[in-house]
Amino acid sequence: MQTPFRADAELCDHALDLCQRLIQIDTTNPPGNERPAADLLAVELRAAGLEPIVLESAPGRANVVARLRGTGAKEPLLLTAHLDVVEADAARWRHPPFSGEIADGCVWGRGAIDMKNMAAMSVAILCRMAREGLKLERDIIFAGVADEEAGCQQGSLWLCKHHPELVRAEFAIGEGGGFNIFIGPRPFFTVQVAEKGVCWVRARVRGEPGHGSMPRADSAVIKLAEAIARLGKRGLPRRMTAVVGDFIDAVAKEQPALARPFLKRLLSPSLSPFVLERIPDRSVARGLSAMLGNTASPTVLRAGDKTNVIPGVAEVEIDGRTLPGQTTEDFLRELSEVLGPEVELEVMRELPPVVTEPRASDLWDTIHEVLREREPEAAIVPYMLPGFTDAKAFTQLGARWYGFAPVKMPRGMRFADLFHGHDERIPVEGLRWGTEVLAEVVARFAQGSAT
Ligand SMILES: [Zn+2]
Repeated sequence: MQTPFRADAELCDHALDLCQRLIQIDTTNPPGNERPAADLLAVELRAAGLEPIVLESAPGRANVVARLRGTGAKEPLLLTAHLDVVEADAARWRHPPFSGEIADGCVWGRGAIDMKNMAAMSVAILCRMAREGLKLERDIIFAGVADEEAGCQQGSLWLCKHHPELVRAEFAIGEGGGFNIFIGPRPFFTVQVAEKGVCWVRARVRGEPGHGSMPRADSAVIKLAEAIARLGKRGLPRRMTAVVGDFIDAVAKEQPALARPFLKRLLSPSLSPFVLERIPDRSVARGLSAMLGNTASPTVLRAGDKTNVIPGVAEVEIDGRTLPGQTTEDFLRELSEVLGPEVELEVMRELPPVVTEPRASDLWDTIHEVLREREPEAAIVPYMLPGFTDAKAFTQLGARWYGFAPVKMPRGMRFADLFHGHDERIPVEGLRWGTEVLAEVVARFAQGSAT
């Protein structure tokens, strides 16, 4: 019988150090330039006796994969993190975004919570397990990938297409959950079990061209502007999905008796707009609203190039996001109903929604078990991310995905505000906590009866 695997101070220090060093490598995407970050992790993994592989999808766009072998009695577990980050406007930060500096109890820098923390924790854990020669019944694979922030093409999608044998796993743990949120008296920990699909659309209107000196009410620009205004006002219809229903139920259950029925009304498509209007925190209301239907945000506008010419065509690009269970056709039908019959729709890019089904599994139970031991006062809620992650790629190879990059935030510090925000940072204690929790989950799950 092996001694149980536990994260100690040395393992947490290793994760902290790796997180700082990863932040110091500028992997702003575009252009990404993830190679030095992948190399750094490869050096660490190699020093622990593993055989990491660095694979470039394009010059400088590197993915790193390593595998700690188990007996093979069960299928592998994948730990994954993207190595690229979104841009940072240094002038708006209190500490430089690529410093990895520790101040006020936090590690500061772009990627601190999204998600160089997860790459650092996973690699530190894998290195320690390799050094201890832990007996596992499943392989544990680590994949540090490029290009998530620009749509995964050079990263997880490329890796799954060209090297599926390296990353195929029964279960995957990546981003999308694992952080705590405060709604009412009790803290909640999220575990991501679904994410919305993507449907980017180009909407085009044609009209009569003419001279700018003689305005026309039926010009392409005016018709498009009217259509966009309708979309802004009406939005798309509200729909309830099982995972969102479970999330709202779980949150409502923990609220004071008077607030409970109010939140429960979110479950009803006809009453939810009323509830959303009355939520004082508008960022919480927007987050909830995005979970209650397909959404469409007009983003890029294009029409005309001369002030005195009424153009014959006007276009808008629309960032559409679809709920689990909804197809691209469903979404286009909804969008067309709001924009009107004169607006032509052309799909630019689509990625299907992801749902982990069935949600229950040994891994789901292990996550709950560890969280309950560590945070007995917290509730655990299944979560649907309105955005997308590398889950889109790895689930195509059959992995069941749990978004669980554990980090504990102090009350008053909100994950959602730091994510892609100025002053992104991670509390040092929150990172240590996350390392311990992730180590515990991975060890218990991958060791299984091998202990
Ligand atoms: Zn991310």
